Amino acid sequence: MLQAWLSAPRQLSLRDAPIPHPDAGEIVVKVRLALTCGTDLKTYRRGHAKLPFGLFGHEGAGEIVAVGAGVEHLQVGQRVTWLPTAPCRECFTCRRGRFNLCRNLFERVVLGSYAEYLKINARVASVHVFPLEELSDLRGAFVEPLSCVLHAWRVLEPLPGKIVCLLGTGAMAYLHLMEAKARGCFTIVVGRRPERLTLARELGADEVVLTSPPNPLSVNREGESVSPSPFTERGLGGEVIEKIRSLTDGGADIVIEATGAKAIWEIAPELAAPGGKVLLYSGLAKGETVSVLAERWHYDELTILGSFHFTTQDAQIALQRLRQHEFAVERLITATRPLNEIVEVFEQLDQGEGIKYAIVP
Ligand SMILES: [Zn+2]
Ligand SMILES: [Zn+2]
Repeated sequence: MLQAWLSAPRQLSLRDAPIPHPDAGEIVVKVRLALTCGTDLKTYRRGHAKLPFGLFGHEGAGEIVAVGAGVEHLQVGQRVTWLPTAPCRECFTCRRGRFNLCRNLFERVVLGSYAEYLKINARVASVHVFPLEELSDLRGAFVEPLSCVLHAWRVLEPLPGKIVCLLGTGAMAYLHLMEAKARGCFTIVVGRRPERLTLARELGADEVVLTSPPNPLSVNREGESVSPSPFTERGLGGEVIEKIRSLTDGGADIVIEATGAKAIWEIAPELAAPGGKVLLYSGLAKGETVSVLAERWHYDELTILGSFHFTTQDAQIALQRLRQHEFAVERLITATRPLNEIVEVFEQLDQGEGIKYAIVP
């Protein structure tokens, strides 16, 4: 079978591999569709703090073609989606019920959805494989990214108000936008590309703000955060900050950073209203540090939050809401491309071309 292999940053190739066989508790799926993801792009550019090189791709949908001994809740022939991880249920964070923060989450991660077949390990197969039934492969494959977004909104609760400022125009930012609209929030999307802001408008953004070049909302070719632009001190034009403050009557109740850029992590708290919440959604590179205006954090009583990954409950809610035809995820697909073009697809993503691609073996 054909399988993508990422051996080092920007060293992606396709190789022949044997079709996997399931051991006890495992299943094998024939991949019907995989989705590219910002996490994959980060891994492609710079490696990932939690994920190894090698097998590549973690979002997808497929048909079960083999089940290992002892698997009784899943059957050959079922169309399913899966999550790349499952908690160990034994470590100290699992014992405290914080399953998304399991210390052993990545010791048995399911990677390799950019392939014709994929083996899903027993830990994941036991709890995080979901039959799609009537749901399309594409909507099924969105369970994983949507779970992360819905988890973030649970972290944000209780909401301090209804004005939401979203920084970034990647697929995750659009999913946040859709959730904000579903909750009746007033939304402002900040980005650097006019065409992406047009899509944000079409997806319901009440206001959009175009940042001025040079672009602070991105990573460079090496995947590092772009340093603050020469005409500002902290990464976003002063006029942009003023615009956002005027649109939000002094600041947003909720600011969501979805760029993965250090400069934007640092500027995000400055866009929040007193008493507001700031969610730092997109992870930075391992070892990265940020600085935040302490004055705002303390005297304006900001809540600065991280959110990571998902729980089983988040995934079940994502699946249910995708079934109910919520979330126009089809709008986020730039193109459908065959697996044998995966190298070109990542070269394009690396150049900033396209939001999310559906990869079909
Ligand atoms: Zn993902
Ligand atoms: Zn654990």
